[in-house]
Amino acid sequence: VAAGNHVHTKCKLVDGVYVITLDSPNVKVNTLNTLLMDEFRTIVNEVDSNPSIEAAVLISGKPGCFIAGADITMIENCKTKEEVISLSKAGHEIFKRMENSRKPYVAAIQGSCLGGGLETALACHYRIAVKDSKTGLGLPEVMLGLLPGGGGTQRTPKLTSVPTTLDLALTGKTVKADKAKKLGLVDLLVSPLGPGLSQPADNTMKYLENVAVQIAKDIATGKLKVDRSKKGLVDKVMATAMKWDFVKNMIFKKAKEQVMKASRGLYPAPLKILEVVRTGVDKGPIEGYEAEAQGFGELAMTPQSKGLIGLFRGQTECKKNRFGKSKVDVKTIGVLGAGLMGAGIVQVSIDKGYNVVMKDATNPGLYRGVGQIQTGLANAVKRKRISALQKDKYLSNLLPTLSYDHFKNVDCVIEAVFEDINIKHKVIKELEAVIPEHCILATNTSAIPITKIAAGSRRPEKVIGMHYFSPVDKMQLLEIIRHPGTSEDTAAAAVAVGLRQGKVVITVGDGPGFYTTRILSTMLSEAVRLLQEGVDPKDLDNMTKQFGFPVGAATLADEVGIDVGSHIAVDLAKAFGDRIAGGDLGIMQDLVKAGFMGRKSGKGFYVYEKGTKNRDVNQDAVQILKDKYSLEPKGANTVEDQQLRMVSRWVDQFGADKLVKKMEEFQGLYGAPFKPAQTLIDMAKDTSKKFHTNGRDDLKGGPVAKTTNVPL
Ligand code: NAD
Repeated sequence: VAAGNHVHTKCKLVDGVYVITLDSPNVKVNTLNTLLMDEFRTIVNEVDSNPSIEAAVLISGKPGCFIAGADITMIENCKTKEEVISLSKAGHEIFKRMENSRKPYVAAIQGSCLGGGLETALACHYRIAVKDSKTGLGLPEVMLGLLPGGGGTQRTPKLTSVPTTLDLALTGKTVKADKAKKLGLVDLLVSPLGPGLSQPADNTMKYLENVAVQIAKDIATGKLKVDRSKKGLVDKVMATAMKWDFVKNMIFKKAKEQVMKASRGLYPAPLKILEVVRTGVDKGPIEGYEAEAQGFGELAMTPQSKGLIGLFRGQTECKKNRFGKSKVDVKTIGVLGAGLMGAGIVQVSIDKGYNVVMKDATNPGLYRGVGQIQTGLANAVKRKRISALQKDKYLSNLLPTLSYDHFKNVDCVIEAVFEDINIKHKVIKELEAVIPEHCILATNTSAIPITKIAAGSRRPEKVIGMHYFSPVDKMQLLEIIRHPGTSEDTAAAAVAVGLRQGKVVITVGDGPGFYTTRILSTMLSEAVRLLQEGVDPKDLDNMTKQFGFPVGAATLADEVGIDVGSHIAVDLAKAFGDRIAGGDLGIMQDLVKAGFMGRKSGKGFYVYEKGTKNRDVNQDAVQILKDKYSLEPKGANTVEDQQLRMVSRWVDQFGADKLVKKMEEFQGLYGAPFKPAQTLIDMAKDTSKKFHTNGRDDLKGGPVAKTTNVPL
């Protein structure tokens, strides 16, 4: 009688326990969507009313994923704040019914249990989690500019503590099962075969189900009493201390300070989370849940949330290989050049299981590279990202060498030798004498056209750009550049390598500056003009950061290297003419002549004190600007206009029509760099068109990143 087959859930009665298996059809992960919520409602009715059901177990039919989060499209489809609020309230209602049911619910968690997934589990009476590498729990909503809207802000403090809740909800981090147990999120850990051993996923899930059914039954019969009063000592003390206003105030004040420091107050979500958690703590659950629903609705309508969701969808899109599966299955990579970039590329390859042969021209060069990799991995051990054993295992994947001998076994070469076309051509010739026919040849050049590099190869269809960013182990982006002769199969192989290295991969054409340098240069060239107009480097940094960039423009120039920037600027000026004629190129050349090349030379727009983070504005650089390059601002020099002059990216949010008006004003003052492109003029006329549609057909107009059903 009690068996029920729904679209997203299959239910069966096992020894009086209703086992609800979550398994959404035709998708890799379960997400919390309106349909699933409707099914939950039917299931809760069944559990409550069917006398043969004594207890219930929630488990996933997809190993690796319990519920990955709420379905973001569900939120995006809401046109008003009120619609979002009712979504949240519908969730509250169903979760409260589970929580208040006389019959116990047990969540049996394996795989990702995030956002709405964790909130589902929190509404259960007991949580069992598998202690394995795939299982992770967290409240990542803040990363999408939202807050946990399914009761997470109210139930988490009860099970853990206020500081733990704030830590989880404000950082969005994922914790492993054992950590979750320590925090109080999980009641019981199961590790089917003991740590380090693996067995078929199906066996694990069966074992988990058996344990969960037994526990559910024991709770129902009263054999197992769930007693959470024996929390950790710290949480116990904390629970008592939270009764004192001054402790409470201190905790929230400290958390707010950290939020302001990290976000400069630019993101409303963390501040709202603080407010909502506090409401629950101060005024109790009724007002707490109400504040949560209201806050969720407000945040969903903010441009910050829409922007972050867009970014998330874009990143998700970049994790797919649109070129399909390559015939070349890369197992062994040859890296040429053991410098800063080469060694970085090796590091992100050996830790993903690639065998790597790393060659340099000189012994000191090679050893420097090996040292960089060892230090990188040692730091990862120190930060507990990997174990010492893993470090040794990764290092055993590396073969450092001065000869080409081992290159006869490689499937892909990534060259990172000096940025000099003659050296690049020379190494390609040497490589082609040894590498196997199927091997692809990637270059990490920053600015030399891939077409030019491929001209030195006898198999240009296998040549491609793989442009990594420094420091390679930290920067997520990888820009893959196809020249017109690069084959689809080569692109497919390069993208596959990048994805396995854990990168967010964008694929672009072989234009000057590729993509990243091209958009950055327009911004930096205007930043230079602002410096010429007398803006202090510190003020320039502040205004760019206040606009939302993670690093200020003057600091960025120092990090990239003013010499490097100067080279690139000369090349791009040839290609784009007055489109990037913002600041005077001569400045950078004069700064380089004075030895001010940025952080690496100790002086750039700032003076760096070795071994410390201290730095002051380099007054000598400012003097050069004043003496030779000073300009009277022609206008548009409120901070808002100055910020606007440096960016042109977030058109959708600002409005193409408003932007075109501003650009025409700036064009009158500063000329060609601000001439609006025809696409923009067209979009200004039809404001329903957007550059970024997040996969929504009703917003079509520009380049589309089409994705659906992304979990939160
Ligand atoms: P680097 O000077 O740190 O390293 C270059 C290494 O190549 C040196 O160890 C050198 O000994 C070695 N080398 C030179 N000729 C060689 C040869 N014929 N055979 C084998 N090894 C040889 O330089 P880097 O910063 O690592 O840059 C390397 C490449 O990456 C350049 O093309 C650069 O433009 C590009 N790049 C650099 C950055 C960056 O931020 N540094 C970012 C992206 C791309």
